[in-house]
Amino acid sequence: MDKEIKSFEEALEEVRHKEGLSRRDALKIMGISSAAVLTGGVSQAKAATEAKASGAKGRVLIVGGGLAGMSTAARLMRQADGLQITVVEPNPRSVSYQPGLTLIGGYEWQPSDILYQTADFVPSGVTWVQDKVVEFDPKGNKVKTAKGKTIEYDVMIVAGGLELAFDKIKGLEEVGTLYTLGQNEKAAQILAKGNAASLYFVDGAVQMKKNLAAFIEAAKSGKKVKGIYTHPNTPIKCGGAPKKILFLTDSNLRIKGGRENAELVFYPNGGKMFGVPEYHEAILKLFHEKDLKYHYKHNLIGIDLDKKIAIFDKHDRTKKVYDPDLEEEVEEVIHETVEVPYDMIHITPPMKAPDLIGKSPVGSSKGFVPVNFETLQHVKYKNVFALGDIAAVPLGKTGGSARKQYKVVVDNVIAVLEGKEPKAKYNGYTVCPLITEIGKVMLAEFKWADPANGDYHGVVAPSFPLDPTKPRWIYWLLKVYLLKPMTQYGMLKGLA
Ligand SMILES: Cc1cc2nc3c(=O)[nH]c(=O)nc-3n(C[C@H](O)[C@H](O)[C@H](O)COP(=O)(O)OP(=O)(O)OC[C@H]3O[C@@H](n4cnc5c(N)ncnc54)[C@H](O)[C@@H]3O)c2cc1C
Repeated sequence: MDKEIKSFEEALEEVRHKEGLSRRDALKIMGISSAAVLTGGVSQAKAATEAKASGAKGRVLIVGGGLAGMSTAARLMRQADGLQITVVEPNPRSVSYQPGLTLIGGYEWQPSDILYQTADFVPSGVTWVQDKVVEFDPKGNKVKTAKGKTIEYDVMIVAGGLELAFDKIKGLEEVGTLYTLGQNEKAAQILAKGNAASLYFVDGAVQMKKNLAAFIEAAKSGKKVKGIYTHPNTPIKCGGAPKKILFLTDSNLRIKGGRENAELVFYPNGGKMFGVPEYHEAILKLFHEKDLKYHYKHNLIGIDLDKKIAIFDKHDRTKKVYDPDLEEEVEEVIHETVEVPYDMIHITPPMKAPDLIGKSPVGSSKGFVPVNFETLQHVKYKNVFALGDIAAVPLGKTGGSARKQYKVVVDNVIAVLEGKEPKAKYNGYTVCPLITEIGKVMLAEFKWADPANGDYHGVVAPSFPLDPTKPRWIYWLLKVYLLKPMTQYGMLKGLA
C-alpha cells in the first residue's frame, strides 16, 4: 500500500500540471477525502455508520458473494446489530476486481493485481457457505444448495451476477458458458487458436495481451492487419469495455509502432456508441480523430476460428412488407449474414443471468430478477431484494451502479425487518471510466432522467465540475490507482 501511495503522489503531481488543477481540486476530484480509504479515514467513516446502528433482528441470506453481495453483507453488519447474515458463494476468488481486466488485456496489469481471496473479505460475524444455491422456494422462505443444505431466511438478497454465454456463438460451443472469475484456461486456449480473446474472463484477458503483442509485431513488420471488436445483442456488464480494448489497441500501436498498418473496426449490435447522447457524440468524435472504423447493427453469431472469419447478423436495413392484421405496410428489419475476415478479434460474449436463478421462481421470463427499479425490492416477494448485474433495472451493469445500489438495499432490508415500508431509492446512477488511450479516461457518469415520471433514459450526471465528455489524465489516475483500493477498502468493507 505504501508503494501505491508514493507512486500515486508522484503521478498526481505530474498530472495536476497537465490538467491545470490545484492540488486541492485534484485530490477532491479523485475522491480521496470522501472515500477516506487510503489515509486512515476508514475508522471515522466506520464510527459514523456504527452510530446509526439498527436493532433489527432476523436471518438474512445473500445469494452470491461477489462485489455486490459481499459489500451488502459488510454494510449490513455495520448498520444493524441483531442480524444473522449468511452468504452463499461457491467461488474462492469471487470478490476480485473485475474492472482491472481491461488493464490486464491492454495495459501492464497482471492477474495478481486483481485476484484476491473471498475468505479475506468475508466480514467478521458473517457466515460464508462455500456452495451454490440450486433451488429457490420464495413462498417457503428457503433455498437448497448443491451440497444438499436447506437454508431458511427472513430476508433474501439475490446478487448472482452474470454468466458469459460464449456457447451461443456458433463455433464456440466448446468454450461453453463461463464466469468472469472462474478458472478458464482451456476456454482461452480454444479462442487463441483463432487469434480470438475476451477481456470478460481472467484467462481471456491474459490471452488478449498476448494476441495484442503479436498483432502489434505483425503491424510493425509492415504487414497490413485487421483487428475487430464486437458488442453483443444482450445486456452486458461494463458496456464500455468493448470500446476500451479497441482504444487501448489503438494507443498501444501508436506508442509501439505499426498503427499505419492496422485497420481497427468496431462491430456493435446497437446503432449508437453510447446510450447517452453527449457521450455518444464525444466517442464518435474520438473514432474519427483516431481513424477507427465502425459498422452498427452487427451481431456476432458465429466464428470460424481456423479460417479467422467472424460471422455477423447484419440488421441495419429495413423493407416495407404488408401486414394482413393491420392491413397496411410496415417496416421489417432485413437480416443478412456477413463474413468478415480478421487477423485479431476481441469478443464480448452474450451475457445472461445464471439459469439457476433466472429460470427459478425469483427470476423472470427475461432471465433477470425483477425488482422495483428504485427500491430494488422484488416485484412479487416483499422479503426478497436483488442488486448488481442480475437485477432487472434499466441502464448500467457496473460496479459503480452496485456501489449506489447496495446502500439502498441495506436501508430497505433493515426497514422491512423493522416492519416498515422500504423508502430508500436508487436513482439509476452508473459510471463507466472509458479508457480512450493509455493515460486518458472519459469518466462517463449518468443516471435516470426522471424516474418519478417513469423516464429511465440516461442523462449526464457528473460528480465534478468539469466537462465529463473530455478524456482526462486525472481520471486515468483515478482508474489505475484509486478505484481498486476504493473497492477493496471502501465498498467491500461496507463503507464507500
Ligand atoms: C472486463 C470488465 C470490465 C469492467 N469494468 C468496470 C468498470 O470500469 N467500472 C465498473 O464500475 N464496473 C466494471 N465492470 C463491472 C463490474 O465488475 C460488475 O458490474 C460487478 O462485478 C457486479 O457485481 P455483482 O456482485 O453483481 O456480480 P459478481 O461480482 O460477478 O458476483 C456474482 C457472484 O454470484 C455468484 N453466484 C452465481 N450464481 C450463484 C448461485 N446460484 N449461488 C450462489 N452464488 C452464485 C457468482 O459465483 C459470483 O461470485 C467490469 C466488468 C468486466 C468483466
